[in-house]
Amino acid sequence: MSYDSSNVFAKILRGEIPCKKVYEDDFALAFNDINPQAPTHVLVIPKGPYTTYDDFVSSADDAEIAGFHRAVLHVITAAEIAAGGYRLISNSGVEAHQEVQHYHVHVLGGRDLGAMLNAPE
Ligand code: AMP
Repeated sequence: MSYDSSNVFAKILRGEIPCKKVYEDDFALAFNDINPQAPTHVLVIPKGPYTTYDDFVSSADDAEIAGFHRAVLHVITAAEIAAGGYRLISNSGVEAHQEVQHYHVHVLGGRDLGAMLNAPE
């Protein structure tokens, strides 16, 4: 999958559409999901043009990879969800139902999150 810079998260990074920002540094931007599934539902995105987890880790340099994961930790710490428990989700590709083709991690917490997956059909 090649990167398409018309995706909604690329537009947020360019400031073309707004977001509810919770954190930003040189490597990552974090903002509230527009359709939250839990009291804390933050999306963390790298600033570079990566489509999926595998694209990010295979293409980004070490500083970007470390910086991105430290940004995820910053969000977890600021939201105070580590003690109660939290979930990180990264949907990558068609079978994972990835909607936005810019790599992102969902940070979810603040309630009992239930089972990891629905039962198989
Ligand atoms: P997915 O690509 O399936 O991992 O999920 C994409 C997520 O992006 C969904 O949870 C959407 O609610 C969220 N989303 C889509 N557009 C926006 C937006 N403009 N601002 C914040 N979150 C968004």
